[in-house]
Amino acid sequence: ADRLLGGFRKTSERLSANLTEVATKARLDDATLDDVEDALISSDLGPSAAARIRERLRAKRFGLEISETELKEAVAEEIAAILRPVAIPLEITAFPRPQVILVIGVNGSGKTTTIAKLAHWLVEDDYGVLLAAGDTFRAAAIGQLATWADRIGVPLVRGPEGGDPASIVFDAVKQATDTGIDALVVDTAGRLQNKRELMEELSKIRRVLGKLNPEAPHDVLLVLDATNGQNALSQIETFKEVAGVTGLIMTKLDGTARGGVLVAAAEQYGLPIHAIGVGETIDDLRPFDPDLVARVIA
Ligand code: GDP
Repeated sequence: ADRLLGGFRKTSERLSANLTEVATKARLDDATLDDVEDALISSDLGPSAAARIRERLRAKRFGLEISETELKEAVAEEIAAILRPVAIPLEITAFPRPQVILVIGVNGSGKTTTIAKLAHWLVEDDYGVLLAAGDTFRAAAIGQLATWADRIGVPLVRGPEGGDPASIVFDAVKQATDTGIDALVVDTAGRLQNKRELMEELSKIRRVLGKLNPEAPHDVLLVLDATNGQNALSQIETFKEVAGVTGLIMTKLDGTARGGVLVAAAEQYGLPIHAIGVGETIDDLRPFDPDLVARVIA
């Protein structure tokens, strides 16, 4: 937990500083509640989560004296209440195997690194993993994934740069089926600049998958970069429309003061949050523990 604690340090410092300014007023009246709401919004929790937390505090504590510590504890409890319903681990349950996990997200969000971390995580849990290099658009993407695959010791299905991602996915499903793989993790291109092409590419991948197994893809994981703050939220909106999204992984929560966006995402979209990224190494993907995160940030 220390890495996680360290990871949220900046977010925590920011929210804490904002709440400390509020707490000096001691009695929980409407003006104080307004200040709490503002403090939450300026800590990236978003208007909707901020309003909800305000209402819950009002219902429970209005007119009572509240110390700074009590205020922070009360806010942490309300944050945990928002996060708990979406803290849903990614489970490998598909039958027949493989479980097909499509990973989507804009370039630079940490998608490739997250795929590597996820693969490593699954291997540690004794699952057989196969990677598919479906991002054939970016020159470096295939090589980067191949390097990770070597390092983790998992096989990779790849095609030529500029090749057809759907045909790579087709080959990968066949190989996964033939070799008894549990989880097939598919990298995809993250070109949001060209929404129509991206949409066509992803729907073609879906069509191919659907022919091989009507249940596939079982998961469509959107990787989000927490340092993008509120922009991460508009990415959820866009990718839901373009690709369908079944769950989120938020990366780069270490070293950013914008970790509050995790709470905003949970409140506004209610999508499962499967894991969080707190660093650049292979071990830096963490299960999403809502109580721990809430306690750390507030
Ligand atoms: P992609 O373009 O979405 O595939 O992004 P990459 O996986 O190549 O990651 C972009 C950069 O972000 C790389 O330098 C990664 O090491 C870094 N990165 C990825 N995840 C994290 C994280 O959780 N924390 C930090 N600090 N850096 C990360």
